[in-house]
Amino acid sequence: MQKIKLDIVGDPVSHSKSPIIHSTVLTGLGLDFEYRRVCVKKGELEDYLAEAQELGINGFSLTMPHKKDIIEFLDFIDDEAMLFGSVNTVKVKDGRLLGYNTDGRGFAQSVFDYGFDFTEKNIVIFGAGGAASTVALKSEMEGAKKITILNRTLSSAESIAKRLKKCKTDVGTLTLDSISEAAHDCDIFINATPLGMSGVSVDFEDFSFFDSLKMGSLVFDLIYNPSETTFLKEAKRRGFDTLNGFGMLIYQGLWADKFFLEMPIDFPVLKEKIEAELKKI
Ligand code: NAP
Repeated sequence: MQKIKLDIVGDPVSHSKSPIIHSTVLTGLGLDFEYRRVCVKKGELEDYLAEAQELGINGFSLTMPHKKDIIEFLDFIDDEAMLFGSVNTVKVKDGRLLGYNTDGRGFAQSVFDYGFDFTEKNIVIFGAGGAASTVALKSEMEGAKKITILNRTLSSAESIAKRLKKCKTDVGTLTLDSISEAAHDCDIFINATPLGMSGVSVDFEDFSFFDSLKMGSLVFDLIYNPSETTFLKEAKRRGFDTLNGFGMLIYQGLWADKFFLEMPIDFPVLKEKIEAELKKI
């Protein structure tokens, strides 16, 4: 079988966990492969695509700042990538560029994996950046009843809410009061800001909003470094189910491999292997 050539493309790209995720999958499947981190600056995607064609690259993952910029170069874009306006996975097939978004799939699968679902649920999201937008749109797609978006900059929360067509929406500025109010009838409480992330100096200052959250709610922090943020520690201490961003990260990678390789992928087995590899670093 021919060597499989995959890249992760972005700027910066040195921090990316993609090489570990995909190398573990390709090794686990017994495939011969080459995996590169390629630093491509904004505006230089076209040069990368020419290089990828010359080298016979079979597919590549995309991170900041290229997830939107790649769209004009694609021959096909899948429904979720179209809805999110963002592509993180490109398969090269017969010289054509096929674009997918696996972030939403990764997010939803990590929630399903934990025994929760979105049907008729009230979802509260802190943040209104790229991740929050994917989380909101995917939650709606999976049947959420109401989505509340709280963000430091209200206009960004409003922009996401405008894109939600089927569920009820609410928006607000991210304050202790607004979080506490939204917590009252919330089923899944999601942090999609970098508050509490390793290397970020700011964190939530007060966790009394958990007093308003009903027991049985899932508290989800998209952050995976540290594996347990103060947000999750405080939630766990009060008896809530908690989930970090590792599952989302791993599942988006496994979905990407499903598109790259077009072969059956044993998600549970490979997820376990990837977790073990990520724990080593
Ligand atoms: P982003 O597009 O830069 O958005 C960041 C959001 O956080 C914005 O809404 C921003 O508010 C808000 N924010 C930033 N600093 C803040 C502060 N000091 N106080 C309050 N709000 C603040 O980032 P992103 O890509 O959406 O990522 C968000 C988080 O999700 C990160 O922690 C990232 O690591 C995590 N993530 C995890 C995965 C995974 O696979 N697990 C995938 C993607 C992202 P403004 O609009 O006011 O600036």
